[in-house]
Amino acid sequence: MADIANRYVENGAGKYYVDNQCIDCDLCRETAPVNFTRSDDGGFSYVFKQPATPEEEDLCRQAMEGCPVEAIGSNGEGGA
Ligand code: SF4
Repeated sequence: MADIANRYVENGAGKYYVDNQCIDCDLCRETAPVNFTRSDDGGFSYVFKQPATPEEEDLCRQAMEGCPVEAIGSNGEGGA
């Protein structure tokens, strides 16, 4: 389970975030490219845009559920 205390500062404020367990596998970026991107310097993914539509929300949730190391959380600001 992702730990909000370890979230990368690059994440945009809001519900979804990536923490420091990310292994840069690319799954979230493939699943929800509108919302996740890569830090080329850091070698990890982060949420650069919070979901704004039901479709984006669904894809972010799929990314979170598919992350092999559970590095994605949904309990950021306004989340649960
Ligand atoms: S799916 Fe998880 S491990 Fe893979 S890049 Fe995204 S946050 Fe990192």
